[in-house]
Amino acid sequence: DALAQAADTAMYRAKSHGRNSYEFFTPEMVTHSQWRLAIESALRHALEQNELSLYYQPLYNLNRREIVGLEALVRWHHPQWGLLLPDQFIEIAEETGLIDGLGDWVINTACAQLAEWHRMGGKPLRLSVNVSGHQLINGHLLETLQSSLLVHELEPSEVRFGLDITENMLQAGDDVLKTLRRLRAWGANITIDDFGSGYSSLRHLKDLPVDALKIDPVFLKDIPFDTDNYAIAAAIISMGQSLGMNIIAEGVETTEQLAFLELHGCDEVQGYLIGKPMPAEQATRLMRDNGQG
Ligand code: C2E
Ligand code: CA
Ligand code: CA
Repeated sequence: DALAQAADTAMYRAKSHGRNSYEFFTPEMVTHSQWRLAIESALRHALEQNELSLYYQPLYNLNRREIVGLEALVRWHHPQWGLLLPDQFIEIAEETGLIDGLGDWVINTACAQLAEWHRMGGKPLRLSVNVSGHQLINGHLLETLQSSLLVHELEPSEVRFGLDITENMLQAGDDVLKTLRRLRAWGANITIDDFGSGYSSLRHLKDLPVDALKIDPVFLKDIPFDTDNYAIAAAIISMGQSLGMNIIAEGVETTEQLAFLELHGCDEVQGYLIGKPMPAEQATRLMRDNGQG
């Protein structure tokens, strides 16, 4: 129909301009709401048609000098539009409620992958998924995790599961905190993503049911040359560690950043310098090469 056609044209133009953003051309092509409608209806099919996949990005422990985890990042391979990144559809999925189905799919797929890696043997890696506020509030996240593991014949003790949440979710109230405590008691490792960009009060940080902080990559920009960022990143590392948390730096792209993070005792690093997000087969090969398979 006309809407789908407009969206096709829009996406084609966006891609031919080398930009993955619809904002670039929206004014002349399709309105914002038309665009969202097109994404929404395509996303409904995406779940049924197997158009989604998970990519995996390694996390490297600086002390142990080995890969200790992987983060699952969703990708959408649309038959006409090509590869879409989460920034183009997660927000719409959240607003339309499609995130619940998508989130369940992510957890199921991650568990299936864990089961495959578990059968390969070797050291168990932590596999982290990103969760939306919705998933923490609707209350069945733990049940989804438990039943997924069951389906894939994994014991909770055989896997290490990580959940990336954002600072702002912690503001949502006692129910969310209760959910997080249950997840943690079950064995999930909770990380605050993009730490420093939200509004969590430092006063409460010590009481939160959280295992790790992931420094927002904006604070790693131009380190060590940007002295403000240098000071902030160093402070986050030392504060977080004093509170007994694991500190992760993401978006690490340069050897200068890596040297800074090692100097300051950061625990784990993630970024293009270590490895880009990659399809499952490639992640499997990486683990084999590391003696983890
Ligand atoms: P995030 O959780 O902060 O993930 C890190 C993002 O930074 C990823 O973008 C990753 O590809 C990118 N990245 C990693 N290393 C580097 C680097 O060295 N340099 C630069 N410039 N970028 C790097 P991606 O995959 O496009 O994901 C964007 C966001 O979408 C994620 O941010 C996360 O918030 C969300 N997301 C991804 N997958 C899911 C999912 O399954 N569920 C939900 N709810 N959100 C997801
Ligand atoms: Ca994340
Ligand atoms: Ca992040």
